[in-house]
Amino acid sequence: MNASAVPAAVALSVVIPVYNEEANLPVLFARLYPVLDGLGRPYEVIFTNDGSADRSFPLLRDQHAARPDVTRVIDFNANYGQHMAIMAAFERVRGEVIVTLDADLQNPPEEIPKLLERLDAGHDYVGGFRLDRQDSLFRTWASRLVNLVRERTTNIEMTDQGCMLRAYRRPIIDAIVRSGAINTFIPALAYSFAGNPAEVGVRHEERHAGVSNYSFYRLVRLNFDLITGFSLAPLQVFTMFALACSAGSFLLVLILAGRRLIIGPEEGGLFTLFGILFFLVSVTMVGIGLIGEYVGRTYQVVRARQRYHVRETLETAGAPRG
Ligand code: UDP
Ligand code: MG
Repeated sequence: MNASAVPAAVALSVVIPVYNEEANLPVLFARLYPVLDGLGRPYEVIFTNDGSADRSFPLLRDQHAARPDVTRVIDFNANYGQHMAIMAAFERVRGEVIVTLDADLQNPPEEIPKLLERLDAGHDYVGGFRLDRQDSLFRTWASRLVNLVRERTTNIEMTDQGCMLRAYRRPIIDAIVRSGAINTFIPALAYSFAGNPAEVGVRHEERHAGVSNYSFYRLVRLNFDLITGFSLAPLQVFTMFALACSAGSFLLVLILAGRRLIIGPEEGGLFTLFGILFFLVSVTMVGIGLIGEYVGRTYQVVRARQRYHVRETLETAGAPRG
């Protein structure tokens, strides 16, 4: 670009987290860039290499060398997770419109224009939902269950929280960055800032290569974050439950005492008491765990630790600023 020319504003930033995707990146590049070139608006693609252990970073570096005008790469020193990778890119975006996308081609890049169309129609948030989802039966059903719980406990309305193919107007992204959120479930956070959200069905493909980076454990953590991060409902439900339990056990003690006075000591009463005790102890433990979750959250905010460390950024100096 001519340095003296007025830099064209970036219309579109595409944000892609990358973790061990060496087998997918070449195909992603080959499919993504033609789509973006065809849009006829100035764009940038920001890849965050989330501590990949494979050849993902060298591939990203080559891609930056091939298309330095539109490619930016953020290189994390370690693996901080998909949502942190997206956050790091959000903190650096220049575009008026931001699209997020997975690197494994489960979200076809060819669907991006569909999202932009809805944004152009006046929405500030367009969430994709996966038509004909290509995931394991377990993933699909587990995600349905979480959807149900989320619908009941938060006021976030989303057909498909797990779909990362989404488009946002810049003010929403700025709000997310300002919020300094941790344990961020980005689609839900963005939704809470949106004024005029819309949804659109997008195709879903099987992972082009490799296996999902989400183990069962990571999925549980993520969904736990989603529920506790956006509502105090678990705490309230627990309190109600604990109240009901104490009322019930108080009643039971009264009945047992009455029985003892009228009929005399029952045999095996010891076991009943043990049963009740174990039950109450387990309720207490669940409660402590839940409270710990919120305390831990507070601790993380108070501590204000750096959430990730960027080792290197590849971007062309003088690239257009939005
Ligand atoms: N990802 C990441 N860091 C991680 C895990 C995943 O940046 O710790 C990226 C990954 O490269 C992909 C996206 O997040 O672009 C979605 O990951 P994956 O396909 O493993 O999740 P799934 O589609 O199974 O939900
Ligand atoms: Mg995937």
